[in-house]
This record gives sequence, C-alpha cells and structure tokens, in this order.
Amino acid sequence: MIESFKHLEQLAAGRDVADVFLETDEQEHAVPAEMILEALRKRREVMRDCVERGKNGGESMGKLVGNEARLLNEAWQSGRTFLDPLTIKAELYALAVMGENSRMGVIVAAPTAGAGGVVPGMLLALEEERKIDPEKTVRAMVVAGGVGSIIALTASISGAAGGCQNEIGVASSMGAAGVAYMMDGNVRQMIHAAAIALKNTLGLVCDPVGGLVEVPCVKRNALFAVHGLTAAQLALAGVESAIPMDEVVEAMVRIGRSLPRGLRETAEGGLATTDTGNAIALRLKAEANQRRADRAAERERLAQERKAQR
Ligand code: SF4
Repeated sequence: MIESFKHLEQLAAGRDVADVFLETDEQEHAVPAEMILEALRKRREVMRDCVERGKNGGESMGKLVGNEARLLNEAWQSGRTFLDPLTIKAELYALAVMGENSRMGVIVAAPTAGAGGVVPGMLLALEEERKIDPEKTVRAMVVAGGVGSIIALTASISGAAGGCQNEIGVASSMGAAGVAYMMDGNVRQMIHAAAIALKNTLGLVCDPVGGLVEVPCVKRNALFAVHGLTAAQLALAGVESAIPMDEVVEAMVRIGRSLPRGLRETAEGGLATTDTGNAIALRLKAEANQRRADRAAERERLAQERKAQR
C-alpha cells in the first residue's frame, strides 16, 4: 500500500509513476495492470461521450443550471471569448460533464460526482490541445486516481465530512498531478502540482443551494479545472509547495473537522442560506410536494378505475 506522498516519492523515484500505482494495485488486489488500463480506457470514453452530450446543454433537475457549457461553446465558436483554447476547453468540458450530472446523465465520478467535471476538463482538454496520445491520458488517469486514493485512505473525499475542499479540492489536486504526468513531469513535480492545487482550496465549504449538486457545484468545477492547470504549470516550472503534500492533506482534515455542520453538505449555511438560496429551496420543496401530491392522486385514480372494472 502507498501510505503517503512521501512514500510515493520514494517508490517512484526515476520510474514511471503510473507503473508504480499499477504494480501496487496488482500486488494488493491481484488485478492485472492491463485490466485496470482497459477499465480506464472505457472511463475515458465515457468522459468523452459525456462532454459531447453536455455541450448541447439542457435543463437540470432543479432548473438552476444546465446551459453553461452550451453558452460558453457558442461564445467560443463565434469568437466572443478571450482566454486561450486550453483554458476555454478545460472550462467547457468541466461544465459539460457537470451539466450531464445535473440531468442525471452518466458521468465518471472523479473522485465524486459533484466534482466529476474537473479531471476530465483538465485531461481531455490538454490531450486535444497538445495532441497527446490518448493512451497517455489513460495512464494519467492512473496517476490522478492514485493521488485520489492516497488522499481517500489518509483523509476523506466527502463534502459531508470536510467541505468542498475534500471534493473539488481533491479533484483539482488529482487533475494537477495527471497534467504534470502528461507533460512529462517527474514524480516530485506531480506531487507538488497536487499540493499546490489542494492547499489553495483549503477551507472551501460545501453549501449546495437547495441541497442539489447544481449551485455552486457546476461552475465551481470549471473554475477549479483551470486552478489545477495553473498548479501543474507552476510545479512543472520548478515551483514547489513550501508545505509538503502529506501535511497539506493533514491540514485539510483539521480544517474539515473545524467547519460547522452547516457548511458540510447540509445546505444549512453559506450560499444555500442567502435570500436567493432560501427562496430557491422553498420553490424546490413546493415542487417536490406538488409532485408527491400528483403521484398520490394518480395512484388513487388508478385504484378507482380498477374498482369500477371489477
Ligand atoms: S459544494 Fe458540496 S455538493 Fe457541490 S461540489 Fe462541492 S462538495 Fe460537492
């Protein structure tokens, strides 16, 4: 088992980090490396399909989001954007995935559904823009997943446990390590990319409006995909986190524990309890009650029909 990032750095010195994760899984769980890679090839395809569907937009379950990717894509296609293509694509793909998630479409949780746009946003955008072999993206997914699994084993990837730093922060950290891998960084740079991304999300609270993974989650994925790219860029340039990654993770755990319950996925604080957040929650509750009443009325009508036929 890879117990810490310090341990990872020792194990992977001078080696391909993806191989180190694959070998560890093979030894621990008796899952052949090729089987893991094949599963991840399929996940990459799911991510790509999801991006293509999500670009078209559509109303979300709570009607709070859903067309962000379509709007950004339209602006891009008509020359109304000002950022570089890699950044736009990372935002666009993250929004597309999260739009699909908000419509209950199939996505790849990375590490969670609520943070599922960050990693594909970063990796797929980079793959396209730098014309990187898709097989390298698959191996970068091994690295990103490996980083996520060390954090999950030593801390938590649950917004309910520690706020959004545990979800979007971890996703950005995973993606930053994956990007550093795709750009041929070494293990030290990958770990510092992960650390720079994670430490600059510390304290990020989980405050979903109406309890739905829509606001602020969808746009937050786009912003933190770009954040992760920036972290990877710094690390690849030789910038290092003054605080080692293992200590950043420890800080994340301590901060998560000190967050009040209202800022840990309960929708009882932060954006969820602004005037607008409260109004949205009331509207959602009224709609849910109406749907329940409609279903009950339909059941009653069918029961009466059956009775009349007897
Ligand atoms: S705000 Fe909460 S629900 Fe939304 S992505 Fe962050 S952790 Fe997940």
